[in-house]
Amino acid sequence: MSKTGYFTHRDCSKHEMGPGHPECPERLDAIADHLLVTGVADALAHYEAPEAALADIERAHDHGHVAALRGMSERLRQEQQAGGPDYARIDPDTALNAHTWQAALRAAGAALAATDAVIAGEIDNAFCAVRPPGHHACRDKAMGFCFFNNIAVAARHAMQRHQMQRVAVVDFDVHHGNGTEDILAGDPRALMVGIFQHPLYPYSGAQSPAPNMLNLPVPAYTRGMAIRELIERLWLPRLEAFQPEMIFVSAGFDGHREDDMGQLGLSEPDYAWITRHIKDIAHRHARGRIVSCLEGGYAMGPLARSVAAHLRVLADI
Ligand SMILES: [Zn+2]
Repeated sequence: MSKTGYFTHRDCSKHEMGPGHPECPERLDAIADHLLVTGVADALAHYEAPEAALADIERAHDHGHVAALRGMSERLRQEQQAGGPDYARIDPDTALNAHTWQAALRAAGAALAATDAVIAGEIDNAFCAVRPPGHHACRDKAMGFCFFNNIAVAARHAMQRHQMQRVAVVDFDVHHGNGTEDILAGDPRALMVGIFQHPLYPYSGAQSPAPNMLNLPVPAYTRGMAIRELIERLWLPRLEAFQPEMIFVSAGFDGHREDDMGQLGLSEPDYAWITRHIKDIAHRHARGRIVSCLEGGYAMGPLARSVAAHLRVLADI
């Protein structure tokens, strides 16, 4: 059995972007409830996510971006106390409320603490049940429900604080992880492999990425078996050859066939299969070290079941 850490914090549920928004606090409740009733929660080591230090966030983001978000958040809180609006909008899909700054610090802090605990050997691998998600957050801007790029912050921490020379990022969210690509493109210590529906938001990733990026854009209605074949033929040999010392996973479950956010045909057995293959590579090259962070996944039942399938493989249960 592997020892798997589960990192989360109640502050992550206080951030919300308005009534009816799909990236909602109930996502974390659905996951936590399902892990409890299935007994998966009993097999995990539970951690409260700390707040990330701004210096750690600025390994992946410009100081200006961090300062702007902090300023927006402070202004919103002051205006709210004076009877102003509940939200400060960044783009049509992305807004801050009074708790967003704190939630974003906890989400990035979860990824950082998970990285430290895995590298220290305290746990074998980890899953961060956090929001806001991160993989659309670019070096200098928030977008697409994302404020800080949790995975890129953690990957940079592994490289700079723990001197890792080869860090892999695997992204199986239905959307292209454009923010992670923006931050890690051209960094010779990083290899990013992604598979995503195209064309679909953010409509990037299909053209000439940097040499350390392996993007697999696939059309709507691609089924799980076809995705497994592509992963087997293209991702796995590249990851194997790279020999990562640690693997970070942008674990988005919106490619589930019952999730309306995209039109891919993935299901729980596919997520288990992908996790198994990531874990095999981690065992061969990285002493099993994996840190996985929640990205998308907006259909509550499928999201919760898919996270459980992912965790069962990570924890060998
Ligand atoms: Zn997504």
